[in-house]
Amino acid sequence: MIKHFQNIYAMSEEGARDFGKSIFWTTLLYLSFMLPPVLGFKFLDEYLVSGNPAGRVQPYLILTAIFFAIMFVLAYIQYDSTYTRIYGESARQRLNLAETLRKLPLAFFGKKDISDLSATIMEDATAVEQIFSHTIPQLYASVIIVCLFAVMLFIYNWIMSIALFWVVPVAALVFFLSRKFQGRTQKRLYDQNRNISESVQEELDLIHEIKSYNREEAFAERLNGNLDRYEKTLMTQELLIGVNINLSYMILKLGLPTVILTGAFLLYRGTADFSVFTYLAFLVVASRIYAPMMQCFDDFASLIMLNVRINRMKEMEAMPRQTGTTVFEPQNYDICFNNVDFSYRGDVQTLKNVSFTAKQGEVTALVGPSGGGKSTVAKLSARFWDVDGGRVTLGGEDISLVDPETLLENFSIVFQDVTLFNSSVMDNIRLGRKDASDEEVLEAARLAQCEEFASKLHDGYDTLIGENGERLSGGERQRISIARAILKNAPIILLDEATASLDAENESKIQQALSELTRGKTVLIIAHRMRTVAHADNIVVLKEGQIVETGTPEDLAVQNGIFASMMERQNSEV
Ligand code: ADP
Repeated sequence: MIKHFQNIYAMSEEGARDFGKSIFWTTLLYLSFMLPPVLGFKFLDEYLVSGNPAGRVQPYLILTAIFFAIMFVLAYIQYDSTYTRIYGESARQRLNLAETLRKLPLAFFGKKDISDLSATIMEDATAVEQIFSHTIPQLYASVIIVCLFAVMLFIYNWIMSIALFWVVPVAALVFFLSRKFQGRTQKRLYDQNRNISESVQEELDLIHEIKSYNREEAFAERLNGNLDRYEKTLMTQELLIGVNINLSYMILKLGLPTVILTGAFLLYRGTADFSVFTYLAFLVVASRIYAPMMQCFDDFASLIMLNVRINRMKEMEAMPRQTGTTVFEPQNYDICFNNVDFSYRGDVQTLKNVSFTAKQGEVTALVGPSGGGKSTVAKLSARFWDVDGGRVTLGGEDISLVDPETLLENFSIVFQDVTLFNSSVMDNIRLGRKDASDEEVLEAARLAQCEEFASKLHDGYDTLIGENGERLSGGERQRISIARAILKNAPIILLDEATASLDAENESKIQQALSELTRGKTVLIIAHRMRTVAHADNIVVLKEGQIVETGTPEDLAVQNGIFASMMERQNSEV
């Protein structure tokens, strides 16, 4: 049973056990709700059959008090087991999803995936939590109670029980037959909802570009299209659920007239074991029992809606995690690619049979046409993804066997897309090394040429820089990123030398900062300018995912290849 809950509801073992307990206590609570009416019937039975001697009221009063005490205690236990425990499980599920995120390949986090992942952690987990605390234990308990009740009533009077219960299987059949169909619409609805969040997120991310290229209308049109499709599917879904539930309700409602007619008929025929009291009892039951059953159908509908979300959570938990040893002491910091093959999505091969070594103490420059695979190589060297074929080693150790966080301690990464937090300049630089003193942070900032712009900010280094550093220019953001790398002082530097956002003066300052940063380290640089390339120790030219030339700049310059023609082109542009 516990395994069953774990599987279908993506729960932890502890959560599934708590869930089982919650169902148990809810069932007991619901059973206890029946004690006062049963007592009432007993009292009435005694009164009707044998009169009610005055002295016999007292035990009923005492029993009523005891029953209320039992109900109170059960209500407390049920509340604790259902709400407190299930919220605990929900917190566990969120932490588990977040842990999965931590262990996913870093490069997994494209913009599109991030909105999807955060929606899963926030929206899906909230919906699941809500339904698990407010609906599902109650649903299970209601089904158990109705079954128990049905068995008792069948023993008591099977003809009346058939009159009472024949509607249930018919209504359930109608309901479940359309369930599959609803599940499909629900999945479509869910996907469309995600598309809308993605469009909105994309628009917010690209708001500057959209405005500067007058693309507002095109974006609005796309969003409207998505919203229209969502609305249509939503209406179809609501209609389906509405028709389906109402049809089931109507069938259930036929139960009461059947009980009235059957009872009247039995009384009229004067069957020996059918008294007015039995008739009355069945009428009371028939007037009460269908409402909770309808509630069950409603709850089943919520459960169907939940399935897509649970599946998404399961999918996320099943994503391949990156794991490995946390003890990593390489002999040196040479990065070595041995016959590496790699593709992002399995269809197009991005890297083919790539082999080269970036030696410690040397600058290795990756050059070549755009889309050739330079960033991919840089990212694979830090295990942002795992390779499909061949090996990447660091100091002779296969990096696919090293825990990604442990591995990344050895890397300083300065890429084009700098991520900054909405805190002070100081805190953003300190991200490079959490325990750095103020003096060390300021020294790194000075080396990275941050002084000049920080001194102009109204609170200097303590100025809050806005979400993702929106109040800073591209060059300033990059200098913060370099300061972080200087502070971290890791033995390997990955550098995307994007200098487009820098003016000439800043560029030369940044060059100074970089030479400070890179001295004596393993440097893998995605080189855009030929000036940098000229100072590199080793050049790797990538085209269409393959290494087409490799050697020192001097060697390559005299060959009549891509590198020589790139040099020529840039020289003629200057
Ligand atoms: P370069 O840095 O030389 O410009 P990249 O390594 O960025 O080249 O890209 C190599 C190829 O891989 C390109 O065709 C690019 O479209 C593709 N690519 C890059 N990143 C991804 C990604 N996250 N998912 C799918 N394809 C990608």
